[in-house]
Amino acid sequence: MTKNIDWQNLGFSYIKTDYRFIAHWKNGEWNEGELTQDDTLHIHEGSPALHYGQQCFEGLKAYRCKDNSINLFRPEENAKRLQKSCARLLMPQVPAELFIRACTEVVKANKDWLGPYGSGATLYLRPFVIGVGENLGLHSAPEFIFSVFCCPVGAYFKNGMKPSNFLISEYDRAAPAGTGAAKVGGNYAASLYPGKLAKERNFADCIYLDPKTHTKIEEVGAANFFGITADNKFITPNSPSILPSITKYSLLYLAKERLGLEAIEGDIYIDKLDQFIEAGACGTAAVISPIGGIQYGDDFHVFYSETEVGPITQRLYDELVGIQFGDIEAPEGWIVKVE
Ligand SMILES: *Cc1c(COP(=O)(O)O)cnc(C)c1O
Repeated sequence: MTKNIDWQNLGFSYIKTDYRFIAHWKNGEWNEGELTQDDTLHIHEGSPALHYGQQCFEGLKAYRCKDNSINLFRPEENAKRLQKSCARLLMPQVPAELFIRACTEVVKANKDWLGPYGSGATLYLRPFVIGVGENLGLHSAPEFIFSVFCCPVGAYFKNGMKPSNFLISEYDRAAPAGTGAAKVGGNYAASLYPGKLAKERNFADCIYLDPKTHTKIEEVGAANFFGITADNKFITPNSPSILPSITKYSLLYLAKERLGLEAIEGDIYIDKLDQFIEAGACGTAAVISPIGGIQYGDDFHVFYSETEVGPITQRLYDELVGIQFGDIEAPEGWIVKVE
């Protein structure tokens, strides 16, 4: 039976669900893995995940459709990206089969935590890999854990589809040839303090410029940036230190194929924001969050409006979310049915 939750008013917070999946890597191989009800991990005090940040993660969602079936959105892409993050941090890769099986089993075992169709709620899955085991020196861990847990979620930014304002940070979240393209906790640890400074000034989060020249927009906290120009271009930054967002690549495709826009990955100079009539942040958690304005030094630049969603942003949102919930036909291979 579906849990008794106020589905319409969920935010983005941890809620303990019934089951999570856990697999162990020892002696050169992953075991089968299994579901467990234990929401704690018992790991060695010397584990490299704790001291040297040897860990990475993913984020994807399960969606309840009108016919009550459950969709996963492009989970193979998350599996591939986790493999890239693992490789960058010298961790063993999780086979795609294990990744998809873990996600599917977690959703099935917790399906009462997935809100009804139309409530706006989804089930957020958090796969992660950590390096564990006895260690002191700077080495790759002797053992690894791959786990997936899930939580029911609503909007990530509390404004949801209402525009939010952002602050350009003076800090960097990643280095030019560092780990910006890997989904690793270290990037996030580095972003907590700049994020707090932005929130203290009533911004939803900060936006990072490219770490090499500080002239181009790079990332919106935990989401990618896009802008729409008056001459119908959908532009999103191109940089080796950006996290390659699956939502972003999906929007590049939909902007071109379904909305007829010119879809471009290119440079977005912070002193050339006037070309954009709309802007937004995109990601699995953020979905599409319209950007009202950006504060850069003493300048505050408003895109479409601080209170209204721009029409192209709205159409992109409707197309993406329609596909995720199974109301609009998905491009080949984008939807994996859980049941
Ligand atoms: C996960 C993440 C995103 C969004 O990626 P999606 O695949 O769209 O969920 C964007 N930026 C950062 C820094 C991220 O960690």
